[in-house]
Formats: sequence, C-alpha cells, structure tokens
Amino acid sequence: MTSVVENVDTSVFEGELGCCTTTNGLYVELVTKIRAYLPDANLDQITKAYCFGAKYHKGQSRKSGEPYITHPLEVAIILTSMNMDLASLVAAILHDTVEDTDATLEDIETNFSKPVRDLVDGLTKISKITFRSKEEKLAENFRKMVLAMASDLRVVLIKLADRLHNMRTIDNMPVEKKERIAQETLDIYAPLANRLGIYGIKSELEDLCLKTLKRDVYRDISKKVSGKKDQRNNYIIDVCKIIEDELKKYGFNLPYVYGRPKHFYSIYKKMMDRGLDFEDLHDLFAFRIIVDSVKDCYEALGVVHAMWKPMPGRFKDYIAMPKANLYQSLHTTVIRPNGEPIEIQIRTREMHQTCEYGVAAHWGYKEKSPDKEHGGTDLTKFSWLRQIMEWQSELKDPDEFLEAVKVDLFEEEIFVFTPKGDVVQLPINATCLDFAFHVHTEVGLTTVGAKINSRMVPLKRDLKSGDIVEILTSPNQKPGKDWLNWVITSKARNKIRSTLREEQRNRSRKIGSELLNSELLKHGTNLDKFNKTKNPEALSKFAKESNIDDVIVGIGYGRLNARDLLDKIYPKTEQTTPGLKPGRLDAETHANNTRKKAKNGILVDGIENVMVNFAKCCFPLPGESVIGFITRGRGVTIHRTNCSRALDMDPQRRIAVQWAAEDATKLGGHTTHLRVTAQDRHGVLAEVTSAIALCNANISKAQIRISDDLMGILDFELTVNSMTQMHAVIKKIESIPSVVKVQRVSSKPD
Ligand code: MN
Repeated sequence: MTSVVENVDTSVFEGELGCCTTTNGLYVELVTKIRAYLPDANLDQITKAYCFGAKYHKGQSRKSGEPYITHPLEVAIILTSMNMDLASLVAAILHDTVEDTDATLEDIETNFSKPVRDLVDGLTKISKITFRSKEEKLAENFRKMVLAMASDLRVVLIKLADRLHNMRTIDNMPVEKKERIAQETLDIYAPLANRLGIYGIKSELEDLCLKTLKRDVYRDISKKVSGKKDQRNNYIIDVCKIIEDELKKYGFNLPYVYGRPKHFYSIYKKMMDRGLDFEDLHDLFAFRIIVDSVKDCYEALGVVHAMWKPMPGRFKDYIAMPKANLYQSLHTTVIRPNGEPIEIQIRTREMHQTCEYGVAAHWGYKEKSPDKEHGGTDLTKFSWLRQIMEWQSELKDPDEFLEAVKVDLFEEEIFVFTPKGDVVQLPINATCLDFAFHVHTEVGLTTVGAKINSRMVPLKRDLKSGDIVEILTSPNQKPGKDWLNWVITSKARNKIRSTLREEQRNRSRKIGSELLNSELLKHGTNLDKFNKTKNPEALSKFAKESNIDDVIVGIGYGRLNARDLLDKIYPKTEQTTPGLKPGRLDAETHANNTRKKAKNGILVDGIENVMVNFAKCCFPLPGESVIGFITRGRGVTIHRTNCSRALDMDPQRRIAVQWAAEDATKLGGHTTHLRVTAQDRHGVLAEVTSAIALCNANISKAQIRISDDLMGILDFELTVNSMTQMHAVIKKIESIPSVVKVQRVSSKPD
C-alpha cells in the first residue's frame, strides 16, 4: 500500500473487501483533505482503517442502499474540516465496527493502537445511550455523555460528526425515528456543539432539525430567502464593497469583508421569539470583517461606527471578554441611512479559526511531538468543562447533576464587574446572590444585601451585562430555604442546599437528644449514662441506622420513635415508672425532673421542662400572652394567643401554657423580627445595627432593599430575651433621625 494519494490504485480495494467506486472515491477525498493540513504524515493507518472497516462492514448497507462504509468515511471527512488528528480520523472510520460487526476492541488495539481502541470504546459506549428528551433517563444518559467527554474530548467531536452525517442522511429513515433523532439532536447535540464553539456543525445540525421537524416552516423560509437570490447577492456585494472601501481609506491593507444569510433556524427562532413575520425581519444577513490584529479590530469598529450609527445596546466585546468556549469577536449592529439594521462581526484570522472550529482549534495538536498527549490536558482551557467534571463526582443524584449541567451548558453568559473592576462571567438570569456565591462560598453564605451600580437591590435581582455588583455580608447571616428560589447557578444552589441540610441535621439532633433523654429518664437513666453503655450500639441496630448520632437525628426529625426503640432495649417489665398513662407529656411530669429549672422558660399545664418549640409563624416572646399545641414528635408548640395560625388549629390539641416566672427572661434566645423603614442614606445601616447591639440584642439575619418610593427597608431577625428587650430595641432605633418607622413583623425577612 502506498501513502501517496495520487498513486493510489483504489482498484486493489475492490473485490474481496466489497469496496466500489463510491467508497473508493470517498477514501481518496479523505486522504486528499488530510494531505491539505498534514502534508507529511504517514497515512498508512488511514488506509488500513479503510480496509479493516470495509472488511467488517461488508454486506451491510445504509438505508439509502449505499455500502455501510460510506458513513464512517463521511464522518472522517467532516472531522478533517476541524483539522483533527490521525487517531481521531482512524477512530472515526472504525467507530461502528465494534457496535455493529464482529470486530472486537482487542482487534482494534492489535491492528491499530491503544489510543484508537480507547476512542472507539468511548464511541461505542456513547452510542448505547439513547436520550429521551425531558424524561427521567435523560439525566443519567447525559451524565454518561459527560463522562465520555472527560475521558477524551475527541470522543464527543467524533460523535458530533457522526450525528451530523446521520442528520444529513436522515431522509431515508422512517418518520417516527426521524423525529425522535431530530428532537434529540436539537435538545442535546446542537447545544453541545454550541458550547464547544463549533458553530459550523451547530448551525447545520439546527437547520437539519428544523427541516425534519418543521418541514413547512423550513421550506417557507428557504423559499423566501432564495426567492430574492439576485437581489440578495447584489445587496451583500454592495454592503461589502462600501465597508471595504471605507476601511481602505483608513489604511487597512486588504481587509477581508464578506456577508452571508443567517442560517434558517436562527431566522426561525427570531420570528418565534419576537413574534415577527418573515417580511418584518431585517437583519437576515451577517457581515464579517477579518483583519490582522486585535488593534485592527477596534480600529475597524471605529471606522464602521463613524460611517453608520451603532444601535444602542447591541455592541458586544467578546475580545476583551471571550465566551467560555473561547469565542472572540466584536459584535455590533449599525443602522444604514435607509434605516436598515445590519449586524457586523469583527475578528482576527486567528479568532476566526476558533469561531469555526471551536474547541478543536485549540487542540494543541502537534503530530510530531510525542511528549504532548492529546485528550485530558486540553480540557484545562475550558473551565466550564472542568466544572462539570467536578460536579459529576460531587453530585450523586443524576437529576441534580442534570440540573447543574443544563444551566451551564445551555445558557448564554453575561459579564458583570466587581467593585474593583474584575470581570465575572455568569449565566444569563443570574442574580446578586449567584454573584455572591461565585465570588466565594463564604461570601454567598453570609450575604445580607447587594448593590447594583451603587443602588441597594434585593438579593434576587437579575444581573445584566455591565452591572457593577457589590455584596454586603454579615458574619451572623445564615441561608434560608427561600434562597433556593433566588439563585440559578448550580454552585450557589448546591452550597445553599448542603448548608440547609447541615442545619436541619443540627436542629434534629438537638430535639432528638431531648426526646431520647426524656424517654431514658423513664427507665431511670439519662443520655450521658446511656452513652457509656453498650446500649447505643444495640439501639442503632434496632433502628437500622449506622450509629447513635443518626438515631438521635432520626428521632428529632420524627422518622424514628424513641419510646418504641427503647422498648426493645428495656423490656416492659423493667420499666421503673409503672402506672404512667401513655403520652409523651406524662414523661416530663416525673418527679425526678421537677427539681431542675425550666430550660425553656415555659410551663405546660403548670409543669416545667416539657419539650417545647416556638412557632415560626408568630415568634412569641417572654412576657406576651401565649397558647400551646401538642405537636406529634415535637412536644408542644408555643404560639401567641392572637396568632391567626393558632386560631385555626385543632382545639383538642390545645394546652394551657405560661411563661415560668420572671427568670424566663434570663434564658435568652427568642427570635423576633423587626422591619425598619429609613431614608436611604449612607451609614444608616451602621447606625441601626449599633443601636441593636447597644440593647444587647443579636442580629441573626438581615435583609436590605429599597422600596418603590425609594425608602430603605431593613428587615432584621433578632435574638432577644423578652418583650421588654424588644421594646427597648424598637425605641432605640426610633431615636435615629433618618428612621421613619420600626415595626415588629411576624414573618421572616424574605
Ligand atoms: Mn455512526
């Protein structure tokens, strides 16, 4: 076999291999295209792969009737447009052999190489994944796809080329299958190509999907675009000429200017998004100016803007701020004297390369340096991809993972600034709180307020490109459940979730210890003594938990019942307090308990130390009139007597409660909420917080926003001892000149 293509006698492939003029023609085309960018490479492997593939696929044919081997050859030809390396091309030719023929991975390794084997292995694995859009399976499958990417990004590029060729030849498929494949392509593969920056493949995939899924729409657009073909071509030539002449006037040497109609799917999307008819669309064409240097890009932009008025808000500088997939260009839309807007992209030749080939242009592809391995190392350039890899190891739940990936794979980016001028890249619709978590987890978790362009805004406010964002924090702040509704980035969501989980666990542990302890008292022991015996182990076993801590958390959470569990350890006859009526509250009436001081400052039916908790709807304070309700597994919940929620509750569960004497106030730790309305003036927040501190109250949460009438609304969650202290705090804040109003509010800051 010879590697000089001109001398290839392709007839040697015929006969035994089942090749024909069609397949040989494709083979010659492939070799010619490789030669164009790898003039000196030894192409024996390509020839060998062709023979190997032809031999194994012999007798198989595509739906079109052509020999099967035409498909893998076409896939390899697509990959040459991205200047892919030889191993990828060999793998492309072999990509269906293991899946569809008797060939094994071992055969491939012996005949070719380990890297080729690994690529084919990756492709075979991906091909087993069938994506079912918007269904459960999608999550797990997507995860597998990403895993394949992690092992070697080339696998995904080959897969994209495979899908592109299948889409090109989809007309031969049965209708139902056609639509499923097109939808899957639109849902997964086109966004993936977009994210990898391979715009050529992305556009073609989208157009083919449109053609398959909405044939009428496609035909309509196609007819309209080509209907005015001459008119359109003249228009493009005219505009290019004007730009070119103007650039030359300013000393540009041979600027390359060209125009082309936008792809059909983007026209279709524009019509859908803006609810426009085709006739109302003006910017059907995109013009490009390719120049030599970055400096020239900005100069060319100046020339264009001096000639035609730029449309406000349409200029984007992806040179200073490249997209995550490394895309760079200047984008602007200008208005021509006849009022027609045209879109112009300006870039260097090098940037153009990246725009066309995306990730593949950054391959670090060096055939001759064996020290540089392909694959993994190149991924470091793509921080988003690295991020996805991290999540996949962190997030065990496939749905959570998909949710994480979806946002970051399919969304466009915005660019905002820190007060110091650093650029932060976030997905579109990201909020102030997302920004805070992006800066640092610790900043995110302690955020109390945010400013956009020096104005206070709610934490949930969306950011827009160009915003300068400042985050205010307080060490006492903790995330609330509602924060989950205010973020869209996976990082923020995951951190908030895990923090909430941790807090939930701590709360449950506290309640669980108390419940277990009070049950243990009935058996003449307590939690400390109990923990020194072997009983905790036995208890964990009964509860089917791995340790006593999990048991306690389970009890506190209401998942486990302390009494039932203890019954298994202490047989009924040994119970030290016979004759007690069943019911949790009775336990606390036991004599050995009454000596202690009331821990929570509440007497239930005149009895101290009953497990109580304070209602989160009204947050009662020592000193005010209260009422109790028995809550299963959680003791007694204390409400204010005038709480509207309490009025709705089952009177059967109602129980009289009162604050235990004056010393209740010394126990501290009651939550209350204040809303301060003040003039939005510099320093007012500091004055209010110091007033609160002066009254010895603690701020556990704070939230700042500006009302519609431009007043500052400061919401605080405080920890106070009593009504008296709360009134003192209110009085103190009211004495601040810019404060207009202080109210106690029953709900938490939101
Ligand atoms: Mn294939």
